[in-house]
Amino acid sequence: MKYIGAHVSASGGVESAPVHANEIGANAFALFTKNQRQWVSKPLTEKSISQFKENCESLGLDARYILPHDSYLINLGHPEEEGLQKSRVAFLDEMQRCEQLGLKLLNFHPGSHLNKISMEECLDRVAESINLALDKTQGVTAVIENTAGQGSNVGYEFWQLRHIIDRVEDKSRVGVCLDTCHTYTAGYDLVNAYDRVFEEFDSVVGFDYLRAIHLNDSKKALGSRVDRHDSIGKGLIGLDFFKRFMQDGRFDDMPIVLETPDDTLWAEEIKLLRSF
Ligand SMILES: [Zn+2]
Ligand SMILES: [Zn+2]
Repeated sequence: MKYIGAHVSASGGVESAPVHANEIGANAFALFTKNQRQWVSKPLTEKSISQFKENCESLGLDARYILPHDSYLINLGHPEEEGLQKSRVAFLDEMQRCEQLGLKLLNFHPGSHLNKISMEECLDRVAESINLALDKTQGVTAVIENTAGQGSNVGYEFWQLRHIIDRVEDKSRVGVCLDTCHTYTAGYDLVNAYDRVFEEFDSVVGFDYLRAIHLNDSKKALGSRVDRHDSIGKGLIGLDFFKRFMQDGRFDDMPIVLETPDDTLWAEEIKLLRSF
């Protein structure tokens, strides 16, 4: 079975996110558990935590299909000590928020080398950052998202994800989220080489590590390494891919999250995908 939703707003508190997910007919969703553009947010209140859990339960939204996303400021592969420490502190806080909310996954972009260290050094730092966070938390899996490779972002080729996973000590709490827009603009041809792309993913990373999907069409071309999402069927990836994806059992039983630009279309997009 497919669990589909969108990255919904949590304005007014995390407890509003499951309500917003329900409004668009979702059985999965993503959210920020704090302001994604600030380093420090107030701790979650007891009331907010219990209301979040109650809302999820009464709306039939299971923690296995909820994919919180961390702050955009965090760079777990930061080349400089100060930035790295700040990021690690903030990431641990994100993991702890997930623990408090009873969530099982935390999705994040691996990091950026900022042209100051090599790709490999940056990936090593990301892995060490994950190890530090896993060491201090329980029950939450660190879910690395593949990137489009824009700027100095790492994690756009499958071997880079594997490089990180290989260096994570607790393999049971590390996984991957594939973003279809990022995969495409990073140079993997989902349109003309569907089978080959996922065979390569399986041999390099392994479907065992696949924990979630960000399902987005792309405004930018194959291999452009530019991250611009488009609504389902309106971009360069196109409907044929999404039909095939929906019929592919390898993507069952994990959160499939839309991060498409027009939130007024989410309910329709979810319906359309289910019709495939
Ligand atoms: Zn994404
Ligand atoms: Zn993106």
